[in-house]
Amino acid sequence: MPTATEITAVWSQVLDIVRDELNTPSFKTWFEHTAPIEITDDGVFVVGVQNDFARAWLEDRYSQRLSAALEQVTGVGLRVRIVVDRDAASPDELTAGPNGTAADTQEQISTRSAPLETKGPSSPSSQFDPKYTFDLFVVGESNSFARNAALAVAEQPGVKYNPLFIWGGPGLGKTHLLQAIGHYVTENFPHKKVIFVTSEQFTDDFVNSLRAKKVDGFKQKYRSADVLLIDDIQFLESKEGIQEQFFNTFNELQRRGKAICLASDRPPKDIDMEERYQSRFAMGLNADIQPPNFETRLAILRQFAESQGITVQQDVLTYVAEIASPNIREMEGAMIRIGAYMDLSNRPVADLPMVRDVVKDIFPERSTRPISVATIQREAERLFGVSHSDLIGSKRSQAIVYPRQIAMYLSRELTDLSLPKIGAEFGGRDHTTVMHAQAKIQKLMSEQREVLNQLQQLTNTIKQKS
Ligand code: ADP
Ligand code: MG
Repeated sequence: MPTATEITAVWSQVLDIVRDELNTPSFKTWFEHTAPIEITDDGVFVVGVQNDFARAWLEDRYSQRLSAALEQVTGVGLRVRIVVDRDAASPDELTAGPNGTAADTQEQISTRSAPLETKGPSSPSSQFDPKYTFDLFVVGESNSFARNAALAVAEQPGVKYNPLFIWGGPGLGKTHLLQAIGHYVTENFPHKKVIFVTSEQFTDDFVNSLRAKKVDGFKQKYRSADVLLIDDIQFLESKEGIQEQFFNTFNELQRRGKAICLASDRPPKDIDMEERYQSRFAMGLNADIQPPNFETRLAILRQFAESQGITVQQDVLTYVAEIASPNIREMEGAMIRIGAYMDLSNRPVADLPMVRDVVKDIFPERSTRPISVATIQREAERLFGVSHSDLIGSKRSQAIVYPRQIAMYLSRELTDLSLPKIGAEFGGRDHTTVMHAQAKIQKLMSEQREVLNQLQQLTNTIKQKS
């Protein structure tokens, strides 16, 4: 029977592994208040958390990760059970540092664990991608309605179209428009407070406040917004507790004439939540974004190529616009690969034969089936000969990290999932890990031919199997 001290030592090593892989706010949210309780005779490691929401969330997203880390620490396969334990450890006990025996801790990379600070208030526009402005949003038939509605809201927040509900398929510009509102308002009405979050961040924030017993602070924060922008609202599906919080905030803001803009991958009626909630969405304006037509795709491509400093022969953009999928993110991904190819081969100008060669794997026969992260992972595992548990697990050797980053990059390019969702598919990693992988692979592919080749090959098989 392991002693309490031993159990605590094991758990603190597990947390070090997890901390190393998640960013600070996520770690703080989900792990700081966990406490090891016991190891049962039949090999279950029991962990206590402070409330049921945290329990469900950890179980959902992190139980695999935790088992893997436990196995790494103890060398035996233990199952994990999360239980609600109101006396769960105070943060001090867990963050006091490795005071265990030297032998226990010498392998921990404790110096790498980031200081546990909370997210400070960010400077007004740093919460927005500089590229997502109205100026850089190419207007076409498919998106002008949503774009004009968004601009109207930005010009007179809270006056028109409240709430504005933007919906549409993957990579069609929903996030771009929401953030464009944010840019516009912060620039033109500097005294107005704009909050942009994904519904996942909203959820995290709520849970944090619950745990810290600072729900009032949470309410205050969101209710002080003049413009509240919430992205990927479909993620609130079947999460009743959060839905209620969300609608309380929503009602309060609406009552006071504050602007609310939401984006979703589907119309309100297809979001699985109570009807009284759904009907609230319909009160303002619903604006959909359709897939862009050829002219719009061409205009977007031209602008993107320019922004990337990619010089092309005349017929190249027409060709890409013709064969591209409607997903603009994917189209931009193709241009990024063309740029990488040019760097690798020292070509100042992209010509048609070369471009054909580069994009043929990205847009094979037009396939409309959505690609899943599972397919991407499976093909990456096959190409690099790594197991699934390693790909999504916690090992950090280059032989595993690299395939993992490649799979994350492709998940970003080929699926519509948000960064947090992709992180979740890779063993519950944080969205910043996915962002890092994306930047890393984009850089590598213009430095090493092999990397671009592997991406091409993988894209090809993934598309064929989808
Ligand atoms: P969604 O949120 O609908 O999945 P995003 O807003 O993330 O899509 O857009 C995907 C990519 O396509 C982004 O890089 C965005 O800047 C670009 N994009 C989408 N629509 C346009 C447009 N009309 N003009 C220029 N770029 C666009
Ligand atoms: Mg989006």
